[in-house]
Amino acid sequence: MKQNFREFFMQKLLVLIRPEDIDASAKEFISTYASYMTEAGIVAKDPSGYTLYPSKYAPVEEQHNAFFEEWINLTDSLGIHTAVGMDFYTDRWFAKDPKYQTVAPNGVPMEHQICPNRPEFWEYGVEIVKELGRYPAIHEILVFGTGFIRDHFCFCERCKREFAPLVNQEPDKLTYGYLTENPEYHEKWHEWRSEKVYQGIIMLQKAAEEVNREVEREKPLRLTIEVLLDPETGLIKGARNEYGYDPLKLLEITKSVMINLFPWSPLLPTPGSKEYDDLIEALYFATEFKRRGGTVALFRWGVSSLDHLHELKQIGKDAGIERFIGTLGYPTDYSIRRESAVGNY
Ligand SMILES: [Zn+2]
Repeated sequence: MKQNFREFFMQKLLVLIRPEDIDASAKEFISTYASYMTEAGIVAKDPSGYTLYPSKYAPVEEQHNAFFEEWINLTDSLGIHTAVGMDFYTDRWFAKDPKYQTVAPNGVPMEHQICPNRPEFWEYGVEIVKELGRYPAIHEILVFGTGFIRDHFCFCERCKREFAPLVNQEPDKLTYGYLTENPEYHEKWHEWRSEKVYQGIIMLQKAAEEVNREVEREKPLRLTIEVLLDPETGLIKGARNEYGYDPLKLLEITKSVMINLFPWSPLLPTPGSKEYDDLIEALYFATEFKRRGGTVALFRWGVSSLDHLHELKQIGKDAGIERFIGTLGYPTDYSIRRESAVGNY
């Protein structure tokens, strides 16, 4: 085994794995580590748009179907909380269709990400949630990427056509500068975009509730929504304004979030620095969130050493967050995602 799986599991990290991460069968792996695991995670749909389970709607990585099903059935039967990962708006397969691509202000379409103002794509998400929810062994879906790439998205034809009249502009003349020059327009832009994201997440949550009725499960299927927390965008304020999701509003919908910490930076801030204090302050909402019955987790890509995990756990300790989720590597499309989020458009 390449990684410190035993230590990760003993430290209660939910490792969201792909079959390639481990050089063993699901059965071998789980029989080795089950006694250390309280939560287990496996990717169900990844940024390529392909699923590891036999989906009827999405393209399928068939070579992984048996592993996926054996994994969830084993972890469930051993009483381990079983989560699966679902990348949503980063969907390279679906985004091949120019009709769905999200578009930068300069008119450049993104070939890896869908515009969140697509009810038909949320419908597609509904079908994926239902397919996953029909496995009684799956207890939770970790939903990645439900928001906008950044504040300067989306300038697709549909978004321009719908939004321009709200700020007294012609769709063809709507520019990012026009929005940011006027604070009132800019705030309208934030509100309008976050409303699109909420409405979509409500659709996914309804799908989860529908499938609860269909499948006999002890606990309802939980949807946990990724929230990007990034110092460049102003942390919590940026989560809502730039990406379109406000954690406290999500409390009303799914009651569960995972905070993707500093997604575009290889480093987390060190305790004692101002950046660290700002981060802890931004995470204060977690206390309120939990008091009202919600679940908050800290998430990080590329947790590949115990040092990484300890950094994450220190932040959790200082912020009163006790759930930790991580992947061993970075998403396959990480560089293009990072470029579209922090690049100049
Ligand atoms: Zn759009």
